[in-house]
Amino acid sequence: MRVYHLSAECYPVAKVGGLGDVVGALPKYQNLAGLDAAVVLPHYDRKFVQENEFEVVFRASNRLGNRRQDFEIWKEKTNKLGFELYLIHIPGLLDRPEVYSYPDEREQFIAFQLSFLDWITWSQQTPDLIHCHDHHTGLVPFLLQHSALYRRLSKTPTVFTIHNGQYHGAFSWDQFYYLPEIDPSSTGLLDWSSGINPLASAVKCCNAYTAVSPSYLQELAGHSNGLEYLFFLERAKGSGIINGIDTEVWNPATDAALVANYTALTIDTEKQKNKQALCKRFGLQPELPLIAFIGRLVVEKGSDLLTDAFTDSLTEHAGHLNILVLGTGDKDVEQTLTLLEEKFPDSYRAYIGYNEDLAHLIYAGADFLLMPSRVEPCGLNQLYALRYGTMPVVHSTGGLKDTVVDVNEEEGYGICFSPNSVATISAAISRAKVLFENTTHLQLLRKRMMALDFSWNQSAKKYNQLYTSLIPKI
Ligand code: ADP
Repeated sequence: MRVYHLSAECYPVAKVGGLGDVVGALPKYQNLAGLDAAVVLPHYDRKFVQENEFEVVFRASNRLGNRRQDFEIWKEKTNKLGFELYLIHIPGLLDRPEVYSYPDEREQFIAFQLSFLDWITWSQQTPDLIHCHDHHTGLVPFLLQHSALYRRLSKTPTVFTIHNGQYHGAFSWDQFYYLPEIDPSSTGLLDWSSGINPLASAVKCCNAYTAVSPSYLQELAGHSNGLEYLFFLERAKGSGIINGIDTEVWNPATDAALVANYTALTIDTEKQKNKQALCKRFGLQPELPLIAFIGRLVVEKGSDLLTDAFTDSLTEHAGHLNILVLGTGDKDVEQTLTLLEEKFPDSYRAYIGYNEDLAHLIYAGADFLLMPSRVEPCGLNQLYALRYGTMPVVHSTGGLKDTVVDVNEEEGYGICFSPNSVATISAAISRAKVLFENTTHLQLLRKRMMALDFSWNQSAKKYNQLYTSLIPKI
């Protein structure tokens, strides 16, 4: 079964968040299970692209609005990622260092999608299925069915995965001219709230859509930035499949970013070495509980609650607690989190920036990982934390609800709280502190966490079953 994954992110080529992790891992595990899954990304000017060898496998020109553009398809030569990787190279439009936030982002992603469709059409390919991820690739299901240009592929099944339903990529109808010729009677399938909405269009036109956890699928019908009714209408096509994690990249036994590698058998002594290194680097105290936050500093992640919650906790437990933040995002939040260092110089640090190696060391060295997310489609951080024997402290929402069981429940291994507020976060931190003081119990819980299986095996199987249900001939 030949499947193309179409995405704006794919680890290690270009990652901003969980989307990158998923698209960098799922195809690899699908291929191990016998599929022929490939990934298509925009050609970014990033380290992986500069340092690896590619060959140009296709060259053509197409139209974007009222201009013609040349494009090339670059293929990574070795398949070292466990799948074929193709990059769509459009000089001046896609060959840039950042993944998002350019003023012409709309043109970038439309050009990316059109060039993908032109490439597979003109090179006479017949994939069995196209799997689109998030709104950046959301026009593909519509275009396949309603543009005469792609008639040959109009029966190709499409799956659309929602990693983040808050962002729709919507734009106004006066930019309709960026799209190629389409059947005028079908334009309603592009529309939501009087604009072109790629996420809504994908949900309407795909053969099946998935959300990255069962709870998030349900939540989309209640909170999805205006698409609630659409998700209600289309619910028969939707399913929730929890993300897995790449257990090769995220393996405390082999992770090169750690100071000391460990397994469930050696965690009692070795985890502390990572904590010591981390605390030394940030001037924290290794004998005290270490609570960490890693993530985008945005409202969805509850980052605006952190400064007040940390102030309360560090005041209440003065001299008995450490907190470390790694994140980047909202400038006001970055500033208040940084200023907090002056107030608690011995027990609190914030690293503002993106640092993959440091994230790995924190998953290993922290005792607890805090996730006060307001919205969490799946959440990978808690899964990485569990794999490294670090207890997640989470607001019970979306994927966090589906993957973290409170220690007070049978076979529990995390700290869950709800509702999400400064007071409930501080109370959860207090619970973490109490747990930390019972070393024997914590050691047992760490082993329980490390025994959990959040690998891709199960989830990849579910995607494969979904694909098979959409391709009757297989
Ligand atoms: P989202 O995709 O909404 O940002 P996820 O939990 O699905 O959230 O995935 C977040 C991923 O991004 C994790 O791999 C996490 O370790 C990583 N990450 C987020 N912020 C940073 C950062 N500042 N430095 C390093 N890694 C980060």
